[in-house]
Amino acid sequence: MRITEADLTPIEAKLVAAARAIRPRAYAPYSGYTVGAAAADENGGIHVGANMEGVDYTLTVHAEQHTMNAMRLATDARAVALAFAVQSPAEAPAPCGICRQRIREFAASLSIPIVAVNLDERLEILRINRYPFDLLLPNSFGPENIGK
Ligand SMILES: [Zn+2]
Repeated sequence: MRITEADLTPIEAKLVAAARAIRPRAYAPYSGYTVGAAAADENGGIHVGANMEGVDYTLTVHAEQHTMNAMRLATDARAVALAFAVQSPAEAPAPCGICRQRIREFAASLSIPIVAVNLDERLEILRINRYPFDLLLPNSFGPENIGK
């Protein structure tokens, strides 16, 4: 669902700014695909992450996963929104499957907004898409699947 900056809620606007701000801290010398992400928790806290690659590629941690881990280190509160910023040739960049499952683990609900920001070559906002999380990961695997 494409939206504009004017459509962002105040917390989403903060997350977009935080994701854009942290993106230069990504460590992606191999792919060159740098991603910044930010999540808001139920108490208003904001947590950030960026992708971190390793030369063997298997040690790579993605920005959204990094953000969820940072949030968990800081608080027991769950995520109420997440934004990420990237320069992608895709019309609508989206989190990978691993990150979707990690978001699932710490999301306050299955319908939290995921805001995807695509930046242009000047690092200005080119496109914004907002998805309810359960659109990205329908019928997801959660604690109920193992009786928890
Ligand atoms: Zn990912």
